[in-house]
Amino acid sequence: NTFAEIDLGEELNLNIRRCKYVKPTPVQRHAIPISVAGRDLMACAQTGSGKTAAFCFPIISGIMREQYVQRPRGARTVYPLALILAPTRELSSQIHDEAKKFSYQTGVKVVVAYGGAPINQQLRELERGVDILVATPGRLVDLLERARVSLQMIRYLALDEADRMLDMGFEPQIRKIVQQMDMPPPGVRQTMLFSATFPKEIQKLASDFLANYVFLAV
Ligand code: AMP
Repeated sequence: NTFAEIDLGEELNLNIRRCKYVKPTPVQRHAIPISVAGRDLMACAQTGSGKTAAFCFPIISGIMREQYVQRPRGARTVYPLALILAPTRELSSQIHDEAKKFSYQTGVKVVVAYGGAPINQQLRELERGVDILVATPGRLVDLLERARVSLQMIRYLALDEADRMLDMGFEPQIRKIVQQMDMPPPGVRQTMLFSATFPKEIQKLASDFLANYVFLAV
């Protein structure tokens, strides 16, 4: 019933205390151990439930162990290890702010890229290196088409407010994005799908993107 009981690593636990999170929320209590154990996850969770930490903690904890893996050095292409997709500029920048607090002094680099803002500043940020990329689907497709981001090394994928992303018409972009990270060997990518509702379209997304997943409703 505490964060320290879950094996997230010392630095992350220190940051959790710095954020004054004392007790996990229900979605965190259930989702974090499932993800840390390496399972794919479909979670029904509302805004305010603490879902951001629920997907950020396992990602940061995992990346802390893997950030030194060899990555290709493309001329101007970066190879993040984790991708968090969110529907809007506001939500993606909120996730970015929180993820930066959680990864303070861990060496894990978080960068955000959203649409409706000049791309050049975001490109410069990316060039300085990125472990966790937070992005909106349209802007990410743009970066992929410019070959400035490669998803070849993605180990963790989180989709936040998936129902809202579908409502906004992002399904083609999301499918295009996920296609680019289906690299061998199978099963190396761990996926977390968060949605406030669980209609047919989300069930279909879950069965297409997740492998042998745990369903969580809180
Ligand atoms: P979210 O649902 O991720 O948008 O989080 C809602 C709010 O709750 C945010 O302001 C978080 O910083 C806060 N929060 C998340 N988890 C905890 C926790 N375990 N203890 C206290 N506050 C939290």
